[in-house]
Amino acid sequence: MTKTSKKLIAGNWKMNGSQQHVAAFFQRLSQHTLPNTEIVVCPPSIYLPQAAQSLKALPQVKLGAQDVSAHLPGAYTGEIAASMLLEHDCRYVLVGHSERREYHQETDAQIADKFFAAKAAGLIPVLCVGETHAQRLAEQTNAVVVSQLSDILSRQGATAFDGALLAYEPVWAIGTGLTATPEQAEAVHLLLRETIDGYDSTVAERLSILYGGSVKAANAAALFKMPNIDGALVGGASLQAEEFLAICESNK
Ligand code: PEP
Repeated sequence: MTKTSKKLIAGNWKMNGSQQHVAAFFQRLSQHTLPNTEIVVCPPSIYLPQAAQSLKALPQVKLGAQDVSAHLPGAYTGEIAASMLLEHDCRYVLVGHSERREYHQETDAQIADKFFAAKAAGLIPVLCVGETHAQRLAEQTNAVVVSQLSDILSRQGATAFDGALLAYEPVWAIGTGLTATPEQAEAVHLLLRETIDGYDSTVAERLSILYGGSVKAANAAALFKMPNIDGALVGGASLQAEEFLAICESNK
């Protein structure tokens, strides 16, 4: 997938919402002239069919899932295969979100399995990386985010990131109201791009790298001015249609 000058804004609803929320949210989006932005919404999987139905009238908005099984369909109770997500018009899927790493003990190897399962099925994986507060204080940020790429790079090199997205999400900024400054975020985005560039400059140049961590309308514009910040992965603020739209409009 080719990076364009358009920002990509993805909303991660996490385990929030209801049928009523899905209906009201997409109705609000359909009443609005959407900005020149790639917009992705990732509701809980159970709402994907309803969201897909609502999005028939909103072709500019794409659907994403929050997680995917590393396995093909079969005896994996509770899991959802990439092919099933595709059946419900999903185009994107988050892999390696810090909440999956922390609460489900997902390892880089398991995340790489999910990443490649998503790609093999034709989904666009969004690989989330980021350091904890303690790691930042210990000046380990760069080592941590680079190591979170390494399982994927060691299996397939930079080609793996052709048709994928990266999201830098400092764990200390997720859901805390603390945001990395544009300069802090830019420094890590540049490092991520340079790391991929060490393998393949074409892939590095066209890779979109999103920033996530308490993005809201009030801070989005400053983040989007940074040359290596290609969009945002938005959690809490993506649940309110007005706030999400305001973030999508911040790239002016
Ligand atoms: C996220 O869940 O990916 C996220 C960035 O959350 P928030 O915007 O609420 O910090």
